[in-house]
Amino acid sequence: MNKYWNSYTETLPREELDRIEFKYFKNILSYAKNHSNLYKEKLKGIEVEDIKTVEDIKKVPFTYKEELRKWQEDVDPFPYGGILGVPIEEVSTFRQTSGTTGRPVYVPESYESWQWRIESWCHILWMAGFRPRHRIFLPFGYNVYVAFWEAHYAAEKIGCEVVPGGALDTKGRVNKIIELKANAMAGTPTYLLNIAKEAMEMGIDPKSLGIERALGAGEPLPEATRLRIEGLYGCKMFDHIGSTETCGFAGMCEEQKGLHIVEPFFLVEMLDRETLSREVDVGEQGVIVITPLGRKSFPVIRFNTNDVAVKGPDNCPCGRTSKKMMEIVGRVDDIRKIRGVLFSPKTVEQLIRSEFPEIVEYEIVVTRQDIMDEITLRIEVDPSLSEEQAASIAKRLAEGHKIKTNLTCKVKIEPAGTLPRYDLKAKRFKDLRGGH
Ligand SMILES: [Zn+2]
Repeated sequence: MNKYWNSYTETLPREELDRIEFKYFKNILSYAKNHSNLYKEKLKGIEVEDIKTVEDIKKVPFTYKEELRKWQEDVDPFPYGGILGVPIEEVSTFRQTSGTTGRPVYVPESYESWQWRIESWCHILWMAGFRPRHRIFLPFGYNVYVAFWEAHYAAEKIGCEVVPGGALDTKGRVNKIIELKANAMAGTPTYLLNIAKEAMEMGIDPKSLGIERALGAGEPLPEATRLRIEGLYGCKMFDHIGSTETCGFAGMCEEQKGLHIVEPFFLVEMLDRETLSREVDVGEQGVIVITPLGRKSFPVIRFNTNDVAVKGPDNCPCGRTSKKMMEIVGRVDDIRKIRGVLFSPKTVEQLIRSEFPEIVEYEIVVTRQDIMDEITLRIEVDPSLSEEQAASIAKRLAEGHKIKTNLTCKVKIEPAGTLPRYDLKAKRFKDLRGGH
């Protein structure tokens, strides 16, 4: 069976991909300017003819999530407002963002745009080795959120057999996997860990479930967490990145080193954090800015995701010619200065997942005492451990934290079951300093 979902586009020479994406960018820019009220207004000063070179793309302003919200509030047609890019009669499915703060963004998908989105996701699944032999279990009720619907339809399209796993509790899901001999899954990393834990509590070794392949969605997947899931299930675990506004735009190939951008579906820029005007070099951190190049029902131009990733090298051994991004460092909003040092909560997750399997749940809280910032790691440890063992874990964690972040922290052991549990988007980082 072919290694590539689309062996033509996935192996096109770099210059050819750049040429196609530049052409598509101008097309969608022109389309947005003519069909979306948001862009009619926003792009008043920009003529498509003025975009003559790739460098000219930088003349086009960024789009921020906040603007999308603003253009929906009390703006016709209900509920999509000025972001809609097709007559409302063409909208065939409703989705919305799952942000935990503020009003969600309502996302209109026409049949055509939805199919475009699914096709992009087919690349992600195929690249991660999902094949028609897989019976894939999706352990969620998808509700109005997009990622698992994308996974569902794309898995069908590539020929997998899809088992929707909504309306069951975790135990019920473990039983369903066993009953149907499902051999693949997609889920948030947190929830895949929870399923493994539940199985163990039921006296079942997660390895015996027969899950061969899994895809992470909805949350960042640090390498340590990825390896932990692989170890628990004895499976291969892959990552992808996307959002409701942008679609899934990059996925992990068999090499399991970084994420390939799905080209030429997206124009992805990685810009320096200080000026947002320079494409970063390989190995450098950049803010991800995305233009989906084929979605007309909801055109988004140069969407600033606020996500920071390390730019990956060219020439992946898998033979794909697409650009790569390596580690996702975190969201610009989550990377904070604490006592003058840049701190990313992801470093702590990485540390806990790789070195502290006894820690069941955790939370990072940053507070300010007088003028001093303080980090507290609240942890819950395996309840079968003694107090001395728990204290020793706390001590090792504080030392490990100091080594990894160059910041001291307090570690507080909480009673079992006190910290919140998450199925979808985990929020384990709380900065309570105000005005940081
Ligand atoms: Zn590759």
